Amino acid sequence: MSKYWSSLVSKLQPYVPGEQPKMANLVKLNTNENPFGPSPKVIEAIQSELNDNLRLYPDPEGLALKESIANYYGVKARQVFVGNGSDEVLAHIFQGLLKHDKPILFPDVTYSFYPVYCGLYQIESNVIPLTDSFEINPDDYKQANGGIIFPNPNAPTGRYLGLEHVEDILNANPDSVVVVDEAYVDFGGETAITLVDKYPNLLVSQTLSKARSLAGLRVGFAVGNEELIEALNRVKDSFNSYPLDRLALVGAIAAFEDRDWFEKSRQGVISERERVTAELESLGFEVLPSKANFVFARHPEHAGADLAAKLREQGVIVRHFNKPRISDFLRITIGTAEQNNALIKGLASI
Ligand code: PMP
Repeated sequence: MSKYWSSLVSKLQPYVPGEQPKMANLVKLNTNENPFGPSPKVIEAIQSELNDNLRLYPDPEGLALKESIANYYGVKARQVFVGNGSDEVLAHIFQGLLKHDKPILFPDVTYSFYPVYCGLYQIESNVIPLTDSFEINPDDYKQANGGIIFPNPNAPTGRYLGLEHVEDILNANPDSVVVVDEAYVDFGGETAITLVDKYPNLLVSQTLSKARSLAGLRVGFAVGNEELIEALNRVKDSFNSYPLDRLALVGAIAAFEDRDWFEKSRQGVISERERVTAELESLGFEVLPSKANFVFARHPEHAGADLAAKLREQGVIVRHFNKPRISDFLRITIGTAEQNNALIKGLASI
């Protein structure tokens, strides 16, 4: 007789994160981390928090961090939700806010965690194809739905949807929660956080993993209407009383305070992205216009899987998705100038 947990294991299709190889000498351009590292003020803040207070629970509200995010974006602390990386924030959103009696909408080429959450929380979805140029068409998001989610810029395409089009989607769906996942917004997009007071149905999620270079600390947040945030707090409080540990709280606050570091880091990524794009194009690649810390590129004469395998032989790891529509492409994280040179040299030799 089959055991119930065997069927559970076969039913759940978890998210598969990009590889974190142990070999230090690899040029790692596969998981969209920031090569410039966190602000030294973040390290200092964490070091000074390594004291006897670790025996005490952290603030169950994470209020000091919410205040610093609220102050940064000009909203109220009650409009901010924090969690262990935006993956966790999104999990709470899917579980508590997107579970309706109609299917939720998201693009066909997008962040692979969305279908995973749908499977876990048993949420119906209706997957909307991107246009031929891999863009989100707001007109396609005008059908009955239980909520909408898309990354902006989108992942893994890097394509950005202007805020006027985000507003089209919000206006067409006043009764649905519209979640804009802005993991990569600081690399050239404009945040929709400026719209949260205008649209009570808007929820914007962000992360400190990318432009603030803190993927290892696991801090994400969402900003929206106070009622939506209160609903999220209730989902979170039914799961874990403490959104973040003491080290993550002080580190994240320091990251928001060091605006100079943030500015230098994101500008460094943007200028390398433009250089890498031009170099790839001169090697014959088609590169989608990107506002993220990665580019999505394909070559007319080489299969994506082959290119990824050959780069790996040369010690450069990039991401290849064996999925319909995008199997020709490589998703290449923007690294330091030296890492990017290794990538270009590797591709030029293929
Ligand atoms: N959203 C998108 C679109 C992403 O690509 C990622 C990174 N994998 C995340 C959310 C999650 O980031 P984190 O959990 O590190 O905040």
